[in-house]
Amino acid sequence: MRNHPEEKPQPDHFTRELRRLNGYTEEELREWLLMPGMKFGDTEKWWQPGATRDKPHEGVDLLIFLDGSGKRHLLPPGTAIPPLLRGTEVARIPDFMGETVILAHDTLVDGGRRLHTFYGHLQPSNAPASGKIMAADSPLGKIGTALKTTTTCPPHLHLSLAWIDESYPIQNFRWGGFCASATFKPGDPLAFMSRAGI
Ligand SMILES: [Zn+2]
Repeated sequence: MRNHPEEKPQPDHFTRELRRLNGYTEEELREWLLMPGMKFGDTEKWWQPGATRDKPHEGVDLLIFLDGSGKRHLLPPGTAIPPLLRGTEVARIPDFMGETVILAHDTLVDGGRRLHTFYGHLQPSNAPASGKIMAADSPLGKIGTALKTTTTCPPHLHLSLAWIDESYPIQNFRWGGFCASATFKPGDPLAFMSRAGI
């Protein structure tokens, strides 16, 4: 297996590239605000006070950020989304607020499983997966407007990652039961992004 140093995620790579793609300064987009229900494994519905999810959250929801003065802002629909690290676009599947883009990554294999990252609730492209290698600084898509949704959940980015058996037909993936499948080993995207030495 080849080992490209540039495929290793940097702790701040994603946020830095998101700033660059969307014209934010560091002062304008200082840090993410994760309310209860937005983090991996959380059980709350952050958009519906007092309500709980059917199952623990399968990733991280990014929507609210703070500027340098601590003021809250929302990522608007149309925000361009970069990958967590370089990878190949292997699937585009519908989700309840738009479309999920899935990337497969070459170098990080855990017990025969390949790392995949998931970018949910993007604007639908109505195109098949490109099979292209997406550089770490290339936009994958834009946050959707959720026009089709029947929920009160506002548009946001859902990030997931999982190590998946090579035999699994990823183009057939659908949300629901993400963590229940024996072929999947999900992880916390934020912990992954900030893990030292990766
Ligand atoms: Zn989510």
